[in-house]
Amino acid sequence: MTSHASRVLVLNSGSSSVKYQLLDMTDGTRLALGLVERIGEETSRLSHTPLVSGGAKREHEGPIADHEAALKTVATELAADGLGLDSPELAAIGHRVVHGGLKFTVPTVIDDAVLAEIERLVPVAPLHNPANITGIRTAQALRPDLPQVAVFDTAFHTTMPEYAARYAIDVATADAHRIRRYGFHGTSHAYVSRQTAALLGKDPAETNVIVLHLGNGASASAVAGGRCMDTSMGLTPLEGLVMGTRSGDIDPAVTFHLKRVAGMSADEIDVLLNKKSGLLGLCGDNDMREIRRRIEEGDERAQLAFDIYIHRLKKYIGAYTAVLGHVDAVAFTAGVGENAAPVREAAIAGLEELGLAVDAGLNAVRSDAPRLISPEYSRVAVAVVPTDEELEIAQQTYALVNA
Ligand code: AMP
Repeated sequence: MTSHASRVLVLNSGSSSVKYQLLDMTDGTRLALGLVERIGEETSRLSHTPLVSGGAKREHEGPIADHEAALKTVATELAADGLGLDSPELAAIGHRVVHGGLKFTVPTVIDDAVLAEIERLVPVAPLHNPANITGIRTAQALRPDLPQVAVFDTAFHTTMPEYAARYAIDVATADAHRIRRYGFHGTSHAYVSRQTAALLGKDPAETNVIVLHLGNGASASAVAGGRCMDTSMGLTPLEGLVMGTRSGDIDPAVTFHLKRVAGMSADEIDVLLNKKSGLLGLCGDNDMREIRRRIEEGDERAQLAFDIYIHRLKKYIGAYTAVLGHVDAVAFTAGVGENAAPVREAAIAGLEELGLAVDAGLNAVRSDAPRLISPEYSRVAVAVVPTDEELEIAQQTYALVNA
């Protein structure tokens, strides 16, 4: 399908929120962005920022009953800026969909069969896929004529070899329940690994990168020549690194113990490991800025939480160096990775034998641009590469509808 319409609306629908960005794909400019929060409550909030003709941020509070009402409010805000969703300039809507299972390896134009398949994956993504489906249905109702594209968080990881994707459990049980490692944050890992190759002046097909996506959720990936070889998240986003509120790797027997000895239900254990663990569970704070502030004041609990976080990170850097054999770069991204110089310094400290080092001066520079923070002599480059999942979703969506 060819079209000269050049705008793409990117929607990231959560269970009670919708994040959106409108981009012009002739040059990737952002035209507007915003967030609707607490959908379904009395105190829903919309914050909308037009980025054209000097418009200022607008905020509204008041009940927004459901996703349909939320998207209609977004459409009204965009129309007020002359960016209405009825515009012939709008080429497509790109949806972030968390779980695409094994079936969706690339961005996909959504039809009834695709929607049914996303629905079939709800048992493996009970928190995320239902919200994504609601977002898609609502957008379809608003613009039934427009291509809607699903961009999957899992897609980039579908290149993982079987030996990295399978858990060592009974194959029949695993297959019956689709239990395997899927990985998440895929659009970020794809975008950042490519941007890192560009920063090195190399072809992504000839570059091996370890990407450390360290936000409130966190994951690492080993990318060889643009293909994911391993990633730290698994069946769900709970596996792997220590995160803001998730435990990451844990002996699965801890869960039986919590059930048998502590008398907790499966749902209670789920909440404990996903929402009350990680940095929050260890020290009461999940924001790295607050943890660093407490460490500066000599707080030992914050220091121990930080040390556990760094220890896990180092283990993954070592493991993925072994997985890749040859590493061109380690790239830090997302809220913590892009902003927390002490995390980058501590994670790389002592890894000289792996060819890794950080230059203190370069590491201290604050910037929004992709940059190297390793000294000249470092055999493996260490980089800070800001992620941009919305741009990646918009680019993939636009490329598909213009293919
Ligand atoms: P994200 O999920 O990528 O939006 O990352 C959010 C997290 O990034 C927050 O919870 C903080 O822990 C962290 N963060 C954001 N800004 C900073 C900063 N300036 N220094 C340290 N950590 C930061």
